[in-house]
Amino acid sequence: MSFEKLGIIKPLLNAVKDLGYDKPTLVQTRAIPIVLAKKDIFATAQTGTGKTAAFALPILQRLRKREESKGVRAVILSPTRELSIQIHDDIVGFSKYMDIKTTILVGGKDLQKQREVLKNGTEIVIATPGRLLEHIESGLSLKDVEVFVLDEADRMLDMGFTKDIRKIHPLMPKRHQTLLFSATFSDKVRKLSKLILTKPAFIETAKKNTTVDTINQVAYQVDTARKAELLAYLIGSRNFPQVLVFTRTKQSADELAAEIVKDGLKCGIIHGDKTKANRLKTLNQFKEGLTRVLIATDIASRGLDIENLPYVINYELPSIPEDYVHRVGRTGRAGRQGEAISLIDIYEKYDMKDIEKLIGQKIPLEVVEGFEPDPTIRRKDVDEVKLKAEHKRSAEKKERQFSKNKSNRPQTKKQSIATKKKRKTTKRDPR
Ligand code: AMP
Repeated sequence: MSFEKLGIIKPLLNAVKDLGYDKPTLVQTRAIPIVLAKKDIFATAQTGTGKTAAFALPILQRLRKREESKGVRAVILSPTRELSIQIHDDIVGFSKYMDIKTTILVGGKDLQKQREVLKNGTEIVIATPGRLLEHIESGLSLKDVEVFVLDEADRMLDMGFTKDIRKIHPLMPKRHQTLLFSATFSDKVRKLSKLILTKPAFIETAKKNTTVDTINQVAYQVDTARKAELLAYLIGSRNFPQVLVFTRTKQSADELAAEIVKDGLKCGIIHGDKTKANRLKTLNQFKEGLTRVLIATDIASRGLDIENLPYVINYELPSIPEDYVHRVGRTGRAGRQGEAISLIDIYEKYDMKDIEKLIGQKIPLEVVEGFEPDPTIRRKDVDEVKLKAEHKRSAEKKERQFSKNKSNRPQTKKQSIATKKKRKTTKRDPR
């Protein structure tokens, strides 16, 4: 199959050629003709499969004829600023030979400046739900919207954006096309799809919640207290040129960074406490090879698109099994090879089992010579560990919900200090 055979027009063909796309990926082959036929789509496409082009190319094609009297004609909602920026950059690349204006509306940027840009007219808006609503409240109209895209819909719902989506959707004309993309399949997404999609075509490019075949996955057993040492050893001894490392919390990201710089490794940190400008700078430094290690939390993981990223390391397993799929999906993108390594301590054994159940695949459990777990660190009462793990998960869930609610409204300085105090360490080694 070729992009040409899918009916893609010349200016777009030239742009994808410039980007080095030789042929469409599976999700592109399936989705493009349906989007061009103006039908709704419900696609479960994994991260890294090329889904941005799957919706962006046919949307650009549809909007190629300028209609001066019209306002915003396509709205793309995404859960995070990083992912929005990524989509925006992709669309700017795809539309380089076309005359189509694309605007990004995300938090952390001057609202007034964004309003000025909107005044000059734009066909495509890429936004996070909260910021889009702010613009709607100050007069942005969605009455001319022809295509509505929800990207990473599962993540948006997990982040508590259901209400916002329900507010935004009715503001569009009755007859518009809706494209829903979700990395994973969940009841929440299915429920939303019933509400917003009309006779959708279902596209499933991979079994639900599976990880891509090109990713080699392995787990190393190690004691909690030796994880940082093992990480530095792996990077050094295997000569990893670049590695993306995930931690569960912002605090452990900071602590890990402090540890590994001692080993002479240059590293950057991306998490929710960093400003948008700082996150972008850190990401660019990593992309340019100025830093060898990028430490990130899950909230930051969705929008990270790093070409040719060969290694992802789970320094700590995620508290939500679905996040494992998203994390390891940062490597092995667009059919390339990748390796995902998880460092698991005795307390994470049960989290690993949940992940294996979700992805329907066993991950080989190995030990690195010299890092064998200390046999004296044993749980006397296995049930107690299980209970603690469950308790921790629910506490983390509450914390996420809490910070989501908090981040929706401005904090006073006093509140912000109190929030910081509440954060807890994930170090659980009894020694
Ligand atoms: P996405 O799933 O949209 O985030 O895309 C993942 C990565 O694959 C991005 O770096 C894209 O630039 C790249 N990509 C998308 N489509 C293709 C294609 N047809 N050929 C080669 N690379 C692609």
